[in-house]
Amino acid sequence: MKLLIDGDWVDSSSGKTQQKFNPTTGEKLEEFPLATKDDVSRAIDAADSSYEKWNDIGSKERAKILKKALDMIQASRKELEEILIRENGKIAKEAAGEVDGVIDQLTYYIGFERKFSGDVLEGPGRMQKLFLHKVPHGVVVALTPWNFPAGMVARKLGPALLTGNSVVLKPSSDTPLSAEWIVRKFVDAGVPKGVLNFVTGKGSEIGDFIVSHKKVSLVTLTGSTETGQRIMKNASNNMAKLMLELGGKAPYIVWKDADLKAALKTLLWAKFWNTGQSCIAAERLYVHSDVYGKFMDMFKDAASRIRVGDPMTADMGPLINKSALENMKNIVESAMSDGAKVLYGGKQPSLQGKLSGGYFFEPTILEGADQKSSIFQNEIFGPVLGAMPVDDIDETFRLANDSIYGLASYLFTNDNRIIMEGFDRIRFGELYVNMPGPEASNGYHTGFRMTGQAGENSRHGVEEYLKIKNIYIDYSGKVPEIDTIRNDILP
Ligand code: NAP
Repeated sequence: MKLLIDGDWVDSSSGKTQQKFNPTTGEKLEEFPLATKDDVSRAIDAADSSYEKWNDIGSKERAKILKKALDMIQASRKELEEILIRENGKIAKEAAGEVDGVIDQLTYYIGFERKFSGDVLEGPGRMQKLFLHKVPHGVVVALTPWNFPAGMVARKLGPALLTGNSVVLKPSSDTPLSAEWIVRKFVDAGVPKGVLNFVTGKGSEIGDFIVSHKKVSLVTLTGSTETGQRIMKNASNNMAKLMLELGGKAPYIVWKDADLKAALKTLLWAKFWNTGQSCIAAERLYVHSDVYGKFMDMFKDAASRIRVGDPMTADMGPLINKSALENMKNIVESAMSDGAKVLYGGKQPSLQGKLSGGYFFEPTILEGADQKSSIFQNEIFGPVLGAMPVDDIDETFRLANDSIYGLASYLFTNDNRIIMEGFDRIRFGELYVNMPGPEASNGYHTGFRMTGQAGENSRHGVEEYLKIKNIYIDYSGKVPEIDTIRNDILP
């Protein structure tokens, strides 16, 4: 693996590297360079000196280059799927789904070429005009997480580049390979030298430096709320615009009249997709007490049939790393000390051969803990779910909203009044009624409360990468009338 700085693929100037492990086996997979502050500085300088030219060529030309990259990604998509399976441990179908998402998003963003309009307004006086013109921010720093390592890269590179910004991309240290693969496609497609730069290294070592650099105008992060908070503090140094897509704690409500089969199938997806490592994952289950027993029996039965193991054949793969595995064990332990009991799962499965070194955890269902307990309050980010029975819809909406996070939420009912009340009262950026996610390219993916600020996808998300510049023009050819400046002092 290499860094991409000002058009050159290079090693870290320190020569230092870090090991990346395969989550399925725990074996070493690759070494990636640890960029130094000097490497990062050169990448930012290159981005800063190249974006004006990139902006000048116009969105039609930029879209042609992005389309070429998209075609190249499509033509060799199997390679990307295989990387995702190896570096993230995604099961094969989910890896293919993520690459479908990359293709869909890039196709969607490319469709915005020549579509950004500003305003032409009357000026303050006669023969004057005011133009509100949309322009790129300049240097964008894109920080991506490991859970959708290709999807999040496409989601940021597509709109940032189409709108004429230059980019310094830093992927998660857990998944640098798919990001490098995508960046190489953009470069091969003709993105000019300096416009796209790629640096790998630990967020804890170079992150503060990147986000607070004076030449950076926009920082887009998909990651944890803790990292978002740190970035907000650091961005006070450069006043960079922030797009922060952070943690989630989705409530999943199943009402007594719901189609239980539909609710269950969607829940199996919402909880165990990507081994529960998704910002829109079901994180808290509230089931009406009239159907609680029946639904939980169905859920337990289905969970027991999920095959955990080799991503090529199983229904659910491993967690991303050893510390995520330890975290699941601690979450279960602490839920039990909060009064929960394990309805299903709760431990590391015993797998044979190479898989015995992998970071697997059983699909896990807990019940008996209350709303104040950690399992109902903190982000789990794994295949563990706490459930509780509920009776009153007002109280259920209150419980759903009782979270510092506000990204996705789910509601299963056929009662139109409850659906419309949910529409009014559930304070989350996304509400899925009787259907699974994930978010669509034409929806605005955004969160309330500590899930962050700004948003991605849709016209609104693409326009986050533009700012408005005002141009005032007088075409009267006359010396202006300015009350406070006497004409008799003019020559
Ligand atoms: P993370 O630890 O916050 O890391 C995200 C990115 O930020 C990585 O590239 C990381 O680099 C970098 N980083 C870490 N510390 C930094 C710092 N001080 N300054 C600048 N960059 C820094 O998050 P993650 O564990 O990769 O992802 C899981 C989290 O992402 C979950 O909370 C999940 O809910 C959230 N997420 C949200 C969305 C959404 O759309 N709202 C979507 C997906 C995931 P290193 O890897 O080198 O530390």
